[in-house]
This record gives sequence, C-alpha cells and structure tokens, in this order.
Amino acid sequence: MITQISGVSELSLRLAKQYIMQGEAVAFHTETVYGLGADARSDNAVRHIFELKGRPQNNPLIVHVHRDFDITSLTDHIPDYAKALAKAYLPGPLTMVYPSTGKVSALVSCGLDTLAVRVPSSPTAQAFLRAVDVPIAAPSANLSKHISPVTARHVYEDFEGRIPLILDGGRCEGGIESTVLDCTGETPQILRAGLVTREMIAAVAGECAVYVPQKGEQPKSPGMAYKHYAPKCRTAFFAPEELATAKELYLQEEQKGGVPCFFCEDELARTLKGFRVLDLGSSGEEMANRLYELLHRGEEEATLLIGVCPKERGGVYEGVLNRLTRAFGG
Ligand code: AMP
Ligand code: MG
Repeated sequence: MITQISGVSELSLRLAKQYIMQGEAVAFHTETVYGLGADARSDNAVRHIFELKGRPQNNPLIVHVHRDFDITSLTDHIPDYAKALAKAYLPGPLTMVYPSTGKVSALVSCGLDTLAVRVPSSPTAQAFLRAVDVPIAAPSANLSKHISPVTARHVYEDFEGRIPLILDGGRCEGGIESTVLDCTGETPQILRAGLVTREMIAAVAGECAVYVPQKGEQPKSPGMAYKHYAPKCRTAFFAPEELATAKELYLQEEQKGGVPCFFCEDELARTLKGFRVLDLGSSGEEMANRLYELLHRGEEEATLLIGVCPKERGGVYEGVLNRLTRAFGG
C-alpha cells in the first residue's frame, strides 16, 4: 500500500471518506498530536487500529467528532459542569469521559462502560470529521510506546505502507495529547493532564480533582499505566539538583564514543555551555509545543538523552512533566 500525504482538498477528503467506509485507518492533524482514525462503529476498523499500533487491548481509544455532531447519541448523561466546560473550551484539546450508550464498537472503550469524546479544533481535523460524519476512534498516530507524532513525517516514519492517507495540517501547535477529564461523577476529575489545565477547568466547574492511581488498583485511565512516548535511544532523567551527576554521565558517554545530549528547559540550557542541548523553552506552553518534536530529533541525533526535570509546577507544566517522566522512564 502506498501512503499518501496530502493537505485538505476536495479530493483528499473524498478519499479519506472512502477509506474510512472501507474500514481503513486515516491519520489526521489535530491541535495536539496527529491521530490515527477509523470508524468507531465498526469492530473490524477499531481492531485494525489496535493492530496497526501494536496497542495493548486494554488501552481505550478516544472518539473524535466534528463540532456540530450530536453527542447525546453517544451518552445519555452530560452533567451541567460538563456542558459549561464544553461551552468554554470546545472545540479544543479537552477529552471528556461520559457514561456510554454503546452506540460505537465496544472495542473502543476496551470493555469500560464509559466513552471518551473529543472535538478537536484543528481545521484539518474538523474538515475530515465533517466529511466522514461518523464518530472516529483515534489514538495518537504512533506505534505503541513510541514518541507521539507532531508532523505528517513522524506519522509516515511509523506507518509507511500500512495506511493509505495522512491528512497533513502542518506541525501540531499544542504538542502534547489532550487533557482527559472524567465527567461521570458529581465533579470533574483529570485522568490525564494536558493543555486545558486543572486551573482552567476549576475556573469554569468550580472545582477539579486530579486522579492519582492507587497501588494495586485498576487505573481509571488505563493508558496511564504504560511506559510511553519513549525515544529509541537510551535515556536518563535527573532532578535539577542532580545536575553534577548528569554532567558526569554526559562526559562518560562522550568518552565511550557516544553522542550524549541534554534535554531541558531554557533557563538551564543557557548555562550548559559546551554541552549538546535540546532546549525545551521557558513556559509550559512552549515546552509542550516542542516536547515531541525535540524527542524525535533527539532519538535521531543522540545515543543518550539526558533529561533534567523543569522546576515549575501547575498549569501546563503538569502535562509536560507527565510526558517527560514517562518518555524518560520515570
Ligand atoms: P491516546 O489516544 O494514545 O492518547 O490514548 C487515549 C487515552 O485516553 C487512553 O490511554 C486512556 O488513558 C484515555 N481514555 C480513553 N478512553 C477512556 C475511558 N473510557 N475512560 C478513561 N480513560 C480513557
Ligand atoms: Mg498515544
């Protein structure tokens, strides 16, 4: 199969629709990372997504719909706070988990009685979802455990010859996956941190908890149990106060003939004169925007990536920190 990369056009949308109706998977740009979409109503199409990615069977998918799609067909319980949040932040990088009415394939939610729904704001995603006009199950368009894709090229590298079409909308601005918010309870609870922050949710909903999986418990958001987002090179991760040890490791790697590279925020990067550095920038948003792009570059150019944890907490930093610790193995 030839994998075509194309921007949105009448022809590419017509092809996308045709592929989706045939049970194929189509990758598409979103404002967070590229998604790998298939018809959420079809068991075979959803199974195909899991197979393409090598994704564990207990890691559920998010259903994507266009902005005018009637989501009351997918769930029969949307609490008032969720309506207010949808009004404030959708379309956008916020996934909301609702009780499911079972209108899509049971494989989407991996046996859970809930369904994660997202309305992306990317014009490419909207055009695609409108053209197909069916709920699209879509995880990130990377092989399971590999770094999430933020360009069409990243998708192509993981899926060349295995999917027919990548709808190219350029580099993803947001840079990290959507916030996943449990909306099945009396108050909202964050299952995965992202660009719509706890502070933003609390400002609209009045309060917002953050789910922390307890040891031995079946996690509410199964995907969070995995080592994830990992580059193909070796990695090490340090707290800011362990910088001396990190530098020692860097020098050892160089002596062995390897190519070490620091991966850290701008404030630290500027002090690392004479060291190879991938600079994540200085705000939470900037770091999210650059994170996967730089991880992709790091795995191409380095044999050892040495991550140093940013100092700040709260806001978008929470999402960045979550991806960083998982990409670097904790
Ligand atoms: P990905 O699309 O690769 O970013 O993965 C989607 C993530 O959304 C999964 O790893 C889960 O953590 C989360 N998710 C999807 N569906 C549900 C659900 N019904 N309940 C809780 N979390 C979900
Ligand atoms: Mg993913």
